[in-house]
Amino acid sequence: MRGILIVGAGQAGLHLAVGLLKNGYDVTVVTDRSPEEIRDGRVTSSQAMFGTALGHERELGLDLWAGSCPPIEGISFTVPGPEGPVIDWAARLDVAARSVDQRVKIPAWMAEFERLGGKLVVHEATVADLETYAAQYDLVMVAAGKGAIASLFERDAARSPYDRPQRALALTYVHGLAPRPDHSAVCFNLVPGVGEYFVFPALTLSGPCEIMVFEGVPGGPMDCWADVRTPAEHLARSRWVLETFLPWEAERCAEVELTDDLGVLSGRFAPVVRRPVATLPSGARVLGVADVVVLNDPITGQGANNAAKCAASYLGSVLEHGGRPFDAAWMTAAFERYWQGARHATAWTNALLAPPPPHVLELLGAAGALPQVASRFVNGFDDPSDFAEWFMDPAKAHAYLAALS
Ligand SMILES: Cc1cc2nc3c(=O)[nH]c(=O)nc-3n(C[C@H](O)[C@H](O)[C@H](O)COP(=O)(O)OP(=O)(O)OC[C@H]3O[C@@H](n4cnc5c(N)ncnc54)[C@H](O)[C@@H]3O)c2cc1C
Repeated sequence: MRGILIVGAGQAGLHLAVGLLKNGYDVTVVTDRSPEEIRDGRVTSSQAMFGTALGHERELGLDLWAGSCPPIEGISFTVPGPEGPVIDWAARLDVAARSVDQRVKIPAWMAEFERLGGKLVVHEATVADLETYAAQYDLVMVAAGKGAIASLFERDAARSPYDRPQRALALTYVHGLAPRPDHSAVCFNLVPGVGEYFVFPALTLSGPCEIMVFEGVPGGPMDCWADVRTPAEHLARSRWVLETFLPWEAERCAEVELTDDLGVLSGRFAPVVRRPVATLPSGARVLGVADVVVLNDPITGQGANNAAKCAASYLGSVLEHGGRPFDAAWMTAAFERYWQGARHATAWTNALLAPPPPHVLELLGAAGALPQVASRFVNGFDDPSDFAEWFMDPAKAHAYLAALS
């Protein structure tokens, strides 16, 4: 039986670990936080996941909340102007999205992993530990998310257009937010020069909730979390942003209260793509997984989706490799196979962090009158490779709009 060790029990690490276990591998996961510490800790993400990623989870029996997590049935898109919204439309997703608080999901997946016979070790792995693991296991993968150990993997400058954070991020988990009419949705609001705000239903420790996500342009008025000291101040600041820039979203919040004192988060990080293989001082090699190697800003909600897609892709690469050694060439090939999809999510996400070029404004405006444009944009969140065919390139965008009219 081949032995595989994974550092990090997050979205990707546990998904991959369960997939390997179910295919007969001997799997150990080393992670720095116990199930109790995760459950009793702070929120980490807004983790909205779309059809393809949810399908990968379902294939492994990891969709434990399909019946209890409220569905996200569509996406609405709004751009405010001086007199009210200048762009305002919504479309349905072909497959509903879902967001399960990682404080709910990860401890349950850890229990499932152990129930299936996996070995879970609670320990913060160091480079010295990686050396030990590499000597003991056939393959070591690092799925440590934004953990410091990810810096072992070299930044790939050619694939990383940004070298500093592009948004000041904040999350506010609430109960009592008024639902939007028609159908549930990620309500995505873009305030030019200020930032983005989106809000959608989710499942947290205390049941169904809504997650508010703030993406403030650095130095702008939505970059406003540094002096917030308490959960109550965080909620008050969230309301202030909405009352100031998005009054129709503020109206939905008349009755909101925090789900819990740890249902708030603020911070920032630079998006980065790293080289997939790290060489340890001994010369042993380890393979990076998901956020360790492709870390995108959450503006497009792709990170957890990519983590599931990376886990599914790496699982396929491991199984196809059979009994041969997991050398650097195999590791690079496994990453490049995943990157063929992830590069589209990355390019699209990085594009949305920049001020929208004229053809993007044209497309987003046209979507208000042309439901097929709105539908194509909304369903691109599940499969961002489609954006290369129409959204990312002015000539293709104009040809697409011309064909529709
Ligand atoms: C504000 C915000 C909003 C987001 N919203 C969305 C969204 O709506 N949709 C979406 O798809 N994605 C979203 N994401 C991104 C998503 O949460 C991540 O991309 C995803 O969780 C990455 O999975 P991962 O397995 O790579 O890392 P993680 O899920 O972060 O797991 C890494 C694990 O490794 C552990 N670890 C770290 N260092 C060590 C070490 N040295 N030793 C042992 N263990 C270690 C960590 O504790 C953690 O448990 C959001 C992120 C943020 C910050």
